Amino acid sequence: MSDKINDNSIIIIGAGFSGLAAGIYARMNGYDVTIFEMHNLPGGLCTSWERKGYTFDCCIHWLVGSSPLNGMHDIWEETGIAENRKFLDMDQYLRLEDTTGRTLVMYTDIYKLEKHLLEFSPQDEIPIKKFIEGVKMCLPFDLPSKHEPALKRLGKQAKTVFSFIADGKKMKEWMNITCESFSHEFKDPVLREVFREMWVPEFSMLFMLFTFSYLHNKNAGYPIGGSMPMSRALEERYKKLGGILKYRSRVTEIITMNDSATGVRLEDGTEHRAARIVSAADGYTTLFSMLGGKYGDTKTLEPYEKWQMFPSLIFVSLGVKRIFGEIPISVSGLTFHLKQEILIGDKVRDKLSLHLYNHDPSMAPEGCTAITIMLETDHAYWKDLSRDRKAYLQKKEEIGNTIIGLIEERFPGISGQVEAIDVATPLTFERYTGNRKGSFEGWLITPENSGVIMKPMDQSVPGLKHFYMCGQWVEPGGGLPPAIMSGRRLVKRLCKEDKKNFKTE
Ligand SMILES: Cc1cc2nc3c(=O)[nH]c(=O)nc-3n(C[C@H](O)[C@H](O)[C@H](O)COP(=O)(O)OP(=O)(O)OC[C@H]3O[C@@H](n4cnc5c(N)ncnc54)[C@H](O)[C@@H]3O)c2cc1C
Repeated sequence: MSDKINDNSIIIIGAGFSGLAAGIYARMNGYDVTIFEMHNLPGGLCTSWERKGYTFDCCIHWLVGSSPLNGMHDIWEETGIAENRKFLDMDQYLRLEDTTGRTLVMYTDIYKLEKHLLEFSPQDEIPIKKFIEGVKMCLPFDLPSKHEPALKRLGKQAKTVFSFIADGKKMKEWMNITCESFSHEFKDPVLREVFREMWVPEFSMLFMLFTFSYLHNKNAGYPIGGSMPMSRALEERYKKLGGILKYRSRVTEIITMNDSATGVRLEDGTEHRAARIVSAADGYTTLFSMLGGKYGDTKTLEPYEKWQMFPSLIFVSLGVKRIFGEIPISVSGLTFHLKQEILIGDKVRDKLSLHLYNHDPSMAPEGCTAITIMLETDHAYWKDLSRDRKAYLQKKEEIGNTIIGLIEERFPGISGQVEAIDVATPLTFERYTGNRKGSFEGWLITPENSGVIMKPMDQSVPGLKHFYMCGQWVEPGGGLPPAIMSGRRLVKRLCKEDKKNFKTE
């Protein structure tokens, strides 16, 4: 082993969930860690912002591992996220109202859901039952928690192994079915639409099955207070463990010598050295800009040509002086069909999905509600528009006003109650988090790349020593649990390289 490896220092690029997690576990295992973050806040995509007394949350809808009896909760405890956090388990995942007066509810309890779906569309009994059976298949996959008695843990483990042996083939089949293709099995147009669009159409159905199994098991609750308090909790845990965190420090280059990473250069020109360099920042920028495209093999680089990313978003936030007590709370909000199709930004829309924060009063002043709306969009459209600053700002303003006009159709009087408007575009996401095209969760898992479930992506880059990656660009499917686990997985590997026992305290 070289002198370099014996040196304990690590530089991490990015203080998102993954970079902070890597920092926390690295500190727990005795490494000297410095994180360079380009923003002045922790959390990356797991963030929120304040406008006129409202908090607009950009990320968390549900957190897998919210149940203290699930093993993922142990990880939230290790990293400081679970401490003093209240989780809310909701009865509904989403509501969709069509223009004929029908309301479809995706309940989180699968027995209630099955009953409702069969009443809603008896002609779709076959795909409904197939879906429910699929969710039931995922229910036994419950990670044991360290808080459970040893026997119970063993029981859970045995159940998981047994279920995997029994249902592995079926899982593989579900993995190869996209939400889009499954939706074609429904005859009712509303059900077809919900199954196609509840998530991203190209996404593998297996993940929808798992999500509903977590929701049913009350293991995917909403953390009261939303995203930012969780990011702050991670930052606090990292700093308490003695980690160094430098904000407003954008890394522009990873310094290499003889095919070994030796440090980073910041935007201000300063250079910083460490024995190991970890990038927890955007994958494309890391490989093609910070490393100049000089390292990596086909396996490392091909995804950037071939794999699909989570889409770019127009993210509209409204603060309204009104409460929505009549609308049941739901994880993903209320969707309603528009009376007429309308062009918003670069795409024609036939519906609007409102994420009403009527379940979290901490997001708005008393008697008021924060609302967020996510609309898919093309990054290129905004990039072109931004060449003319005035036109870009005008388009954002126009979209804000159009959205308010459309919500007025469903909630008359609301236009007069709007106190705060904020419109973010893919360029906003890009500017604040560096993520390519403003993608909000990295790679989609599709039938083409589903092999990563069995064999995770490599966290090192062939051809370059002492360099590693963690975060959503090496964990297809994205999300907060994979981001945290990615940092943890990496530090476990470093401990193995250094022949140390991996510690989590
Ligand atoms: C609208 C939305 C809804 C979501 N909903 C959920 C949900 O309900 N549940 C869930 O689990 N997940 C959800 N996610 C996904 C989740 O937020 C992400 O997958 C996760 O936060 C990714 O973490 P990360 O650390 O890998 O990356 P990031 O959060 O992107 O962190 C990367 C960090 O690196 C920094 N950085 C980038 N470039 C540089 C540089 N050159 N120098 C220094 N620093 C740099 C960035 O500023 C950032 O802080 C949602 C995301 C969005 C946007």
